[in-house]
Amino acid sequence: MKDEKSKIKTHNYLWAMLNHKCPRCREGALFCDSSSYRLKTFMKMNKNCPVCGQKTELEQGFYYGTGYVSYAITVAFSVSTFVAWWVLVGISIGDNRIFWWLGTNIILMLVFQPYFMRLSRAVWLSFFVSYDAGWRSEAGLRSKSDPEGTTY
Ligand SMILES: [Zn+2]
Repeated sequence: MKDEKSKIKTHNYLWAMLNHKCPRCREGALFCDSSSYRLKTFMKMNKNCPVCGQKTELEQGFYYGTGYVSYAITVAFSVSTFVAWWVLVGISIGDNRIFWWLGTNIILMLVFQPYFMRLSRAVWLSFFVSYDAGWRSEAGLRSKSDPEGTTY
């Protein structure tokens, strides 16, 4: 039993978030569309995790709070590009290099925006739903006693 358990590969938190996976099992996709760039459907979420059955919208308007996460991600991203620019290109008040960074950063943020929006939702959900190593044994029980997945 112990060997069997250790054989099952579990993903870490960072991997699960970056790939928009369910925070409870870290395997099921939170979003219906695997691509962040099909702009008509990219924000459509599965009602329940297809793997463990975890509900993805815990209450009405649950995802309003993602604004805070999105803000943090945007700031972190901008700081990273600023540092990278500083190291690779250099920042000076004598020329326009800082404005080139600003423009580049804006373009990069626009390009990554759909991905960041999905990432914010995944991170936000992970604040309320923690990883459950025993989800496999519970999944069977849940589908019988709670087919709607309303308890979590
Ligand atoms: Zn799941």
